Amino acid sequence: MADPMAKISYDLIIIGAGPSGLVAGLYAGRYRLNTLILERIAVGGQIILSHSIENFPGFPGGIATSELIERFKKQVDDLNIPIKREEVLGISPRDGIYNIKTKDGNYETKSVIIASGTQPRPLGVGGEDRLIGRGVSYCGTCDGPLFKNKEIVVVGGGDRAIEEAIFLSGYASKVSLIHRRQGFRASKILEESAKNNPRINFILESVIEEIVGQNKVEGVKIRSLANNSLRELGCQGVFIFVGITPNTAFVKGQLQMDEAGFIITDEDLNTSLKGIFACGDCRKKSLYQVINGCGEGAQAAHSVHKYLQ
Ligand code: NAP
Repeated sequence: MADPMAKISYDLIIIGAGPSGLVAGLYAGRYRLNTLILERIAVGGQIILSHSIENFPGFPGGIATSELIERFKKQVDDLNIPIKREEVLGISPRDGIYNIKTKDGNYETKSVIIASGTQPRPLGVGGEDRLIGRGVSYCGTCDGPLFKNKEIVVVGGGDRAIEEAIFLSGYASKVSLIHRRQGFRASKILEESAKNNPRINFILESVIEEIVGQNKVEGVKIRSLANNSLRELGCQGVFIFVGITPNTAFVKGQLQMDEAGFIITDEDLNTSLKGIFACGDCRKKSLYQVINGCGEGAQAAHSVHKYLQ
């Protein structure tokens, strides 16, 4: 916990311990920068919501995300870079130094890397908030085992939805994948794999209008966008994967962002404030993958090293 009166001066504070933040820590440690990593929830970030990753180079057949993150963390630990579990509330610049205010206190640093990642975007339909933890979930790895031999619905057509539908088909007796279009954003290899899975049933050109149930999920009301018909489908679980929202509220109004809150950087990962850099999924870009998040972590630490020199 941070001492509220502390005036520790770091070279670098990294906000977020997902893949990008951990790689930034690894590179900063090798540059021998006096570095601290602050993480709000858990080391690993969003990736640990997925069971495994198949497209990280060097691991044919895939690797469990927990193991991959453990390996990243070990490399950071070996360089004696501390990781503290504290939520950052804001950053205040003063004479070339940044004050980082957390829920527990304050830290001073010469530079900052924001690697705060994203969180799942809610669907925004009736019943969703009320039934979270009662059948509504945003994490297959966490909640999948609760749905053994049950019928569930997965919403979305991106990588996350298709990957999770495949993973959840290992527990559920039937997975209905509801997507609002015929085409998918997900990579073709995932789409093919889901289409060959006998437990996955596709309900396309359709949206959920409401999640129904008294104290737990009992079904969903589905509107067909093809013919406007409405029907109810009984199910015990609804897994929602309809995109991501950046965790950047703590610097809103300070840094240049797009309308959704993704931080805008240049190619060296400078933000609009000198000495603050951003990497990983919290920044505006066109590919949100672990592989480029890692590369950006390395680049951000390199840019910090140059900035401090
Ligand atoms: P995403 O790629 O943005 O896909 C979101 C999906 O949800 C889209 O199919 C979208 O439909 C649908 N959607 C959005 N709002 C909706 C609404 N209100 N009602 C119904 N459907 C809605 O998000 P994601 O799958 O969460 O992935 C986030 C990022 O992480 C992506 O860039 C993804 O590639 C990356 N990722 C990669 C991997 C991997 O490579 N292994 C794994 C997980 C995530 P439309 O297509 O019609 O817009």
